Amino acid sequence: MGFKDLANFNDALLAKQAWRLLHNKNSLFYRVFKPKFFPDFSISEATESTSGSHAWRSILVGRDEILLGARWRDGCGESITVWNDAWLPSLEHPKILSQVIPGFEDAKVSDLINPTSRRWATDLIHGLFHPDEVDLILSISLSHLPTEDKVIWPFNSSGVFSIKSGTKFLKKETNLLAPRSSQAQDNDIWKRIWRLSVPNKVRNFLWRDCHNTIPVKQSLWKRKLLSDDICEQCRSSSETIFHALWECPKIAECLEQNFTILKLNPT
Ligand SMILES: [Zn+2]
Repeated sequence: MGFKDLANFNDALLAKQAWRLLHNKNSLFYRVFKPKFFPDFSISEATESTSGSHAWRSILVGRDEILLGARWRDGCGESITVWNDAWLPSLEHPKILSQVIPGFEDAKVSDLINPTSRRWATDLIHGLFHPDEVDLILSISLSHLPTEDKVIWPFNSSGVFSIKSGTKFLKKETNLLAPRSSQAQDNDIWKRIWRLSVPNKVRNFLWRDCHNTIPVKQSLWKRKLLSDDICEQCRSSSETIFHALWECPKIAECLEQNFTILKLNPT
């Protein structure tokens, strides 16, 4: 576990909160944030407001992480923009790459659907997009009744965002983009840890975590001090630092339940 892993894990935690706001509209969490920060539109369209709290800014960071990887699943198509959102059924090619035709810059996916027959407007689609994209669009089946557009997470078979798959996705993205040297990124993350208002023992723990010096079972087993390295909590995996602190399903339950409280009360 290094600095970058810790940063990706933190972003995945924030993304989990944004995911809840996108999907759990009956929760207390949603009912508190909706009127204050995105009263007349969805969280995917929300921007940082001048009255924005630390919690809200953190959630917007998480929202942006989700939108990097999430896919829209067609309902009525009214909230999906044709040229900006990732809505094609392809992991490699989720966004429209054909050039925008003047006059269609703000088109929504609903504009490509005949509202009466609830079928794709094929002539229009053939006129606007590259043949490969036409095939992808026409492969999406439309429901006969207009339903709400949904955001799905394609890196989990359930379509639901999880901290584990989010961290893995962000790690891949970070490696792909890598705009700066890893040393510069490490320095930035270390400065962020150092500025945290936490007791020194917590900073010390994070430092040891990032330098792989926590005595988890795997390191003790490698030094022949233990006969196995199996996690005592879940008995299903090696107890590495990453597993012990973030990945173990027993820990994940605890983190997911308590994280909202932590972020809503930044001190
Ligand atoms: Zn475990």
